[in-house]
Amino acid sequence: MPRTELRDHILRTCTVHHELHHVRQLCSTPLGVFLCMNRLRTLNGVAIALSRIAETGADSVAIPLRDWARLEASCSKPWSPELRKFDYWSSLNESAAGAMLGYRSMSIGRALQERQALHIDQQTDLPDPSTLTPNAPASPLGLTATDLLESEAHMHDGMACEMWRHAGVSDDLVVEVHEGLSHGPYMRAWEVLGDIFGYDRHARPIDVLLLALHLSFFSPLALTKPFREQIRNWEDVQPCWRFVRSLEALAALTLPERPLEEYGDVCSQVCARLGWSPTPTEIAMECSRALSSRKSYNRISLMAG
Ligand SMILES: [Zn+2]
Repeated sequence: MPRTELRDHILRTCTVHHELHHVRQLCSTPLGVFLCMNRLRTLNGVAIALSRIAETGADSVAIPLRDWARLEASCSKPWSPELRKFDYWSSLNESAAGAMLGYRSMSIGRALQERQALHIDQQTDLPDPSTLTPNAPASPLGLTATDLLESEAHMHDGMACEMWRHAGVSDDLVVEVHEGLSHGPYMRAWEVLGDIFGYDRHARPIDVLLLALHLSFFSPLALTKPFREQIRNWEDVQPCWRFVRSLEALAALTLPERPLEEYGDVCSQVCARLGWSPTPTEIAMECSRALSSRKSYNRISLMAG
């Protein structure tokens, strides 16, 4: 096979591995579930608004999600307050997700203004957006959760490249493909690892990076109430803070040469040092317990219905 054709083929397999890992991040980490639930809540808001619109006899409607001018111009119907409230909900959910991802979100202020414009009473079931404002800087070192998620997914590009190396593709082509992909947000977590932990320690840096990334995504965010009540502050749940704190704790511990092989033990030591509870292992056990209980299935079917 010609070299350029082979390179394109390897790149396609890297894309599949990389994007599949994003799906895993969304489906199987508390951070991913939190982000999905935020969007589901917005969709639920849309469904309620649309069903109320349908009750008025209207059979079609344009929803200008982020555009107040269009909404004002096109909505002189009785249902326009419902749509306005939906836009407010949408702002709140985006603000919560944006803050959690580490973006300085301006829409919290916007949502506050909308709350006043809509004359939404404190006693209604709409939340007060000011409660969503983190009481600490959203993220350390300008990191965003996207940097972390991309860095972890990028490791799967590396695994795909290794697969091709084992299949007999020349080292120089594998290196060319991998280096072509190693830039920007894909490398941010690796750079921060160098600054906080270093690359020349006894413990394998790649193991330390994976552990810190895993600890950053596994906070009690999307768990049941008793676990959520153990959250003490923003840094305990925001993934970028967790990443930096985990690296600092890992740097202070005496680690085995291959820390990933003693995953549970090392994670427990980090969590004990930082006062984090539950540990990732306890979170996994809680998720598994919740999924197998009938109560949870009822909740899922109610949401789907
Ligand atoms: Zn990606």
